[in-house]
Amino acid sequence: MVEQFEQAVAEILGAKNAVAVSSGTAALHAAVFAAGIGPQDEVILPPMTFVATANAVVFEGGTPVFADVVSDTLLIDPKEVAKKITSKTKAIIAVDYAGHPAEYDELRALADDNNLVLIVDACHSLGATYKGKTSPQLADISVYSFHPVKHITTGEGGMVVTDNREFALAMTQFRNHGINADHKQRARQNSFHYDMEKLGYNYRVTDIQCALGLSQIKKLSFWIKRRKEIAERYNEGFHDVKGVLPLRVRDYVGHAYHLYVVRLDTRALGITRDKCFSDLRDAGIGVNVHYMPVHLHSYYKEKYGTQKGICPRAEAGFEEILTLPCYPKMVDAQVDTVISEVTRVLERRG
Ligand SMILES: *Cc1c(COP(=O)(O)O)cnc(C)c1O
Repeated sequence: MVEQFEQAVAEILGAKNAVAVSSGTAALHAAVFAAGIGPQDEVILPPMTFVATANAVVFEGGTPVFADVVSDTLLIDPKEVAKKITSKTKAIIAVDYAGHPAEYDELRALADDNNLVLIVDACHSLGATYKGKTSPQLADISVYSFHPVKHITTGEGGMVVTDNREFALAMTQFRNHGINADHKQRARQNSFHYDMEKLGYNYRVTDIQCALGLSQIKKLSFWIKRRKEIAERYNEGFHDVKGVLPLRVRDYVGHAYHLYVVRLDTRALGITRDKCFSDLRDAGIGVNVHYMPVHLHSYYKEKYGTQKGICPRAEAGFEEILTLPCYPKMVDAQVDTVISEVTRVLERRG
């Protein structure tokens, strides 16, 4: 089941190798390991992401370097990445925030010119495209999560996808303690012998989880289609609502809409995002916030001395963003309720 699921994911992404692991976090860790990140190495990544993106670098002893995002998409800004490249930089981890693909062309050029590995945290963007291509067709390693909140789930689970055979082999070993032969290979060779060549982990995923993944994947295209319809209904609904700005979507990408995020013009509206959040929660609307920038978390402040001011656009974005409910089973009437509740909460204040 594990191999079948790996093949199914590789196939829908048009990629050569897929290695299934126990979570998206394990997948990020495996990618950072395969890229050869260690102490002394720097990895550039955006702060507007889930903490695991940066943690994976720390797991291998590397230093995460935060590059600011573009204001109206909250995607990592290639110009900021260029500014942060030093002789210690070994990789870039871009994030397809909300399911909206990062600026692959420019990031690819930066990686190639500076001999960096381009990893993409594509945990939000299974099913997305950039100029007609998938993430693994453009990045060196793409990382997916099958946590229950993601597009498809295996309960917990993740996948690293790459066209690079060496990376795939390294990550396959990494998920099994760094051992050079798994139990099946040993059985085929009639041998008890194995050698642990590198330090790996038990990041394996089970057949049971992958059987679930195989049934889930059949529904992916239908679910993404529905997510897009919901996003379009929101866009139309907020078109004339003052102070509610959906994030910009470039016309050359296929957005996967893991999240539907709006920015609130809090100054013009005279309301804080936090107040808006709690008013909507009180009204029974399951709003959320993705994310507080990683560099503002205590661990990073204490260990790396990061602070407010190093990524002003991500920080300003954080104060104004709100994630609205978006899931395939949501019906049009529910989308309309969210639109009218958001409008009501803002009008009452504004
Ligand atoms: C979900 C997610 C992860 C972590 O995945 P898990 O499967 O929960 O470990 C990492 N990065 C991003 C952007 C995510 O959304």
